[in-house]
Amino acid sequence: MRELVCEARMKLRDENYRLTRQREAIFEVLARQPRVHFTAQEIHDVTREKHQMGLSTVYRTLAILEEIGLIRKLDVGDGVSRYEFDGGDASPHCHLVCLRCGGVMEASCPAPEEMQVILRADRFKIYDQSMVFFGFCQGCTESPSALVGGQR
Ligand SMILES: [Zn+2]
Ligand SMILES: [Zn+2]
Repeated sequence: MRELVCEARMKLRDENYRLTRQREAIFEVLARQPRVHFTAQEIHDVTREKHQMGLSTVYRTLAILEEIGLIRKLDVGDGVSRYEFDGGDASPHCHLVCLRCGGVMEASCPAPEEMQVILRADRFKIYDQSMVFFGFCQGCTESPSALVGGQR
């Protein structure tokens, strides 16, 4: 974690930002659980006690971290942005969104260069991708109670 924080500090400095305690705390939440997709509200909930900061600070910080390429913003079409750690060596993945519970999971997917071939995009150079699939997670298909209502 120390190494990641150091890296983040350097990247921020290159862009003339300082790694404040609050920024570091937010970055750490995401870097600690690289496969979790947090909403700004969730990050605010975890960091609020130790670091007094408002939700707007969380949003501003997330925007900076995203701009610098330390994290990625994910939009799955429900109007709520989610954020995930964007490690340099993160393998390409797509997102699976449960239509019942709203859970977001990851699955591996072909790299942009491979998608270039799969899509036969001869006249378009693909360099990044963002794929979202919708369906139902295992918990929601298996538990009968989840079929009635669901949480959100
Ligand atoms: Zn589900
Ligand atoms: Zn992800």
